[in-house]
Amino acid sequence: MKLILLGAPGAGKGTVAKQLTQLDGSVQISTGDILRGAVQAGSDLGKQAKAFMDRGDLVPDELIMGIMEKRLQDPDCKQGFLLDGFPRTIPQAEDLKKLLVKLGIKLDMAVNIDVPRNVILDRLSTRRTCSNSKCQAIYNVKSMPPKKEGICDKCGSPVVQREDETEAAISHRLDTYNKKTAPLIGFYEKEGMLITVNATSSEAVIAAIKKKLAA
Ligand code: ADP
Ligand code: ZN
Repeated sequence: MKLILLGAPGAGKGTVAKQLTQLDGSVQISTGDILRGAVQAGSDLGKQAKAFMDRGDLVPDELIMGIMEKRLQDPDCKQGFLLDGFPRTIPQAEDLKKLLVKLGIKLDMAVNIDVPRNVILDRLSTRRTCSNSKCQAIYNVKSMPPKKEGICDKCGSPVVQREDETEAAISHRLDTYNKKTAPLIGFYEKEGMLITVNATSSEAVIAAIKKKLAA
């Protein structure tokens, strides 16, 4: 399947994407994971992106499009992909549309995961992420803690709170989402590609996606 996952930070895009990869071998493409990996590796891309990310601001569109143009041509995308955290602005959505035409790729749909703001705030402040850039498993201190406190179940690395998950950065990320990313809902609606799922469990979101794909 070839999907765009839309939704505020903390809506569960990453969790849904990871679960969908199990279904048919589609790959998860998270621009946030790619960027955090680049920051840890200290690459040029990471150096350019870090300050924006720490403030909870978006990384410039050109950097993101450079990443995605390459990534979408990797052979593992042939089977399908789940775009998690991209596109994030109208210019990115417009560029993606052109890029997909150029690559001869057709998307199935854009899924808007709509979660109430109080649930989002609670989730983000209790979210913890594996610090190993190759793993980046997600935990939650309340609902899904690692088996051993502070240690990733999958790879044994420390599980930490992200630098952009302080209260100030979270509220800034949500404002950025409302201003820059929420307009994509209308964009994909006009394209006739949008489904909106009001669901707070990843299972319910996945069930809605499966139903739509089968229709
Ligand atoms: P979340 O969805 O939880 O906010 P992500 O892991 O998707 O977090 O992104 C973390 C940060 O990486 C964002 O706050 C932003 O700085 C940057 N980023 C990720 N994807 C994009 C994108 N498509 N365009 C611009 N910046 C991005
Ligand atoms: Zn890990």
